[in-house]
Amino acid sequence: MTERFAQASGQGCRNAPVLKQRGQHEVFCGLTSIVWLHRKMPDAFFLVVGSRTCAHLLQSAAGVMIFAEPRFATAILEETDLAGLADAHEELDRVVHELLARRPDIRRLFLVGSCPSEVIKLDLAVAAERLTAVHAPQVRVQSYSGSGIETTFTQGEDTCLAAMVPDLPAGPEWPEARELIVAGALPDVVEDQMRDLLAKIGIETVHVLPAAREATRFGVGPGSRVALVQPFLGDTLAALERRGARHVAAPMPFGAEGTTAWFHAIAEAFGIPPEVVDRAVAAPKARAERAVAQAAEALRGRSVFFFPDSQLEVPLARFLTRECGMEAVEVGTPFLHRQVLDGDLALLDEGPTLSEGQDVDLQLDRVRAARPDLTVCGLGLANPLEAEGLSTKWSIELVFTPVHFYEQAGDLAGLFSRPLRRRDALKVGAA
Ligand code: SF4
Repeated sequence: MTERFAQASGQGCRNAPVLKQRGQHEVFCGLTSIVWLHRKMPDAFFLVVGSRTCAHLLQSAAGVMIFAEPRFATAILEETDLAGLADAHEELDRVVHELLARRPDIRRLFLVGSCPSEVIKLDLAVAAERLTAVHAPQVRVQSYSGSGIETTFTQGEDTCLAAMVPDLPAGPEWPEARELIVAGALPDVVEDQMRDLLAKIGIETVHVLPAAREATRFGVGPGSRVALVQPFLGDTLAALERRGARHVAAPMPFGAEGTTAWFHAIAEAFGIPPEVVDRAVAAPKARAERAVAQAAEALRGRSVFFFPDSQLEVPLARFLTRECGMEAVEVGTPFLHRQVLDGDLALLDEGPTLSEGQDVDLQLDRVRAARPDLTVCGLGLANPLEAEGLSTKWSIELVFTPVHFYEQAGDLAGLFSRPLRRRDALKVGAA
């Protein structure tokens, strides 16, 4: 975050106490992120090394892709594989050879670890090295974990992007060269809007991780500055920092305020005066403010409670409280990554309970006691809570819907106002 913003906003929730919970939690695993990652990397294939359960999860999560050329599959670990690691490696090699022979368009192959591959300690990093030696330079084989033991559903993107960083070529030296890396998968139309504004501000070289194609890989080094567009990319950020890149700390680009602060922070890191940013963003910022004000009519004065699910909770609470007039009762997040969330925590007014991790029964007790107007939670909790008369919003929708930057700010507020408008309409209908 820019110092300008820190001074203007005070400390917010930066130093607020955090309720740490360790118990049963209800979240999808990291395999889910394949559903949005495959769209950003059209030359990649995701091979989950897992069980039939993993295959079913992917099939149902990605049901909408039924007419698309599949770009992911599951290599099923059978009981015989579980009995002997040597057989599992042999079997994996065979599956990969057959796949690559059938699909010469694949340039990147991700071996995605799961609970079963982890339990039998199948070392997919070693398998990826072995397979790269055979299939390079046509195909780069990498591995990462999407296991439910290690990851929540957005962390799958983090482990995937972090796995790509060590293989990136050496990049620019500061100050001779200055390049921006934007980390996080965005829908193409949103990425284009972002690139357009960065160009207007004067940032000449912008790379996005994940790169759309293997052929457009870029370098990373001390001349790289990294801005995140998703708050769940802590491992990716650490991997880029290990390569010499520097973090541009900023609030996440949600809503007019967060987006403006994000562009200001980048401009400051590149020595560009704030007036240049203000001029470049004036029109889209005004559009965003108007759209949010309209969509927020149903949100003002209403309360919101976040279960820990997507790791987007802190930036969204900041957006909903500051731009939409809501009151946050509890902001739960699976992990509170202070370096990444510093800009959003500083802007979030003190008051809500900040909780990290989950003990689902205790949290259900708290939500029942608070009876918020809106509860943001996972699919598994939404139906029972609706049955108890609470309005809910599925957090997974927030990663499938374009919600970043100015042009989507009104839609982002609309995602939260729709369940409330629906409930209001039902009340009127029932009266
Ligand atoms: Fe289930 Fe684990 Fe497979 Fe995810 S990785 S679908 S949690 S078995």
